[in-house]
Amino acid sequence: MTDEKQEIVADILRLKKERNAVILAHNYQRGEIQDVADFLGDSLGLTQQAARTKAEVIVFCGVHFMAETAAIMNPDKRVIIPDKEAGCSLASMISAESLRRWKEEHPGAVAVTYINCTAEVKAESDYICTSTNALKVVEAIPPDREILFAPDQFLGTYLQEKTGRKMHLWPGYCHVHNRIKTDEIVRLKAEHPRAEFVMHPECGCLTSCMPLADKVASTEGIVKHVGRSPREEFIIGTDAGILHRLRKENPRKTFFPAAEEATCEFMRLNTLEKLLWSLEDLEVKVVVPEEIARKARRAIQRMLEVGDPGGSVQPLPEHPLD
Ligand code: SF4
Repeated sequence: MTDEKQEIVADILRLKKERNAVILAHNYQRGEIQDVADFLGDSLGLTQQAARTKAEVIVFCGVHFMAETAAIMNPDKRVIIPDKEAGCSLASMISAESLRRWKEEHPGAVAVTYINCTAEVKAESDYICTSTNALKVVEAIPPDREILFAPDQFLGTYLQEKTGRKMHLWPGYCHVHNRIKTDEIVRLKAEHPRAEFVMHPECGCLTSCMPLADKVASTEGIVKHVGRSPREEFIIGTDAGILHRLRKENPRKTFFPAAEEATCEFMRLNTLEKLLWSLEDLEVKVVVPEEIARKARRAIQRMLEVGDPGGSVQPLPEHPLD
């Protein structure tokens, strides 16, 4: 690390203390951001961390919908994001209005929405899920209820496969995970025959690659699996940003990205410099109007309770949420 970067890191750590701030970073963030974070994780882990923090300021190093989720769960805290342009192609594939219309076409159906969506879409949803707890969420829904699953069609396909449950799938996808291709996986497996292939269910090649995979898991699931596996080589089918953490936590193991070009441009908008500026100015503040936050919180809370073995599952509404 250059002297200049070291100075920035020192300033970030000093300001973090002065501002009583916590830095949450997603597994796809630049390595330099991961290294200064207090907590590193996937959407579920960071949502839980945001819900339990005692800090007054949450600096969310991830994309906008994640910071919104933290703001929804912490209405009394200041949630800031280093770059407000950090969006998400998947989240932008469904609007609250289109979800409302879809629900009208399927009265009585339960709307399960992947956490990669805007606060307005969350507010229209019955349940939120992440790739870590999506199976549990779908399994918690009574078998006689129709399910609308949005916006990721590949995660939806994976859930159908695992649960045997037929769902209506919104045709959304992540452009980053779409860059991971079956041909390349076949080539990498031939080149590294001892490597395990671990993939994220958002991958666009899910149907053809699932039979080739040793494990399909969320980013946190990938981290755990790799840590426990006796194998020494791994082909990683998700955003290549996660390799920083995998290499740091498993220095004796070797990792190959399934696609070098599978790195999220939105995630990489956050830099050390922008993180420092956001702590200096306590900007950019992420605000979710209370009426939307209240409804979204209910759907997120249901998810957290399904995922928490000690928690009670809130009953599903008989009618769409008001
Ligand atoms: S990797 Fe895909 S799903 Fe994740 S933030 Fe980027 S565009 Fe969205």
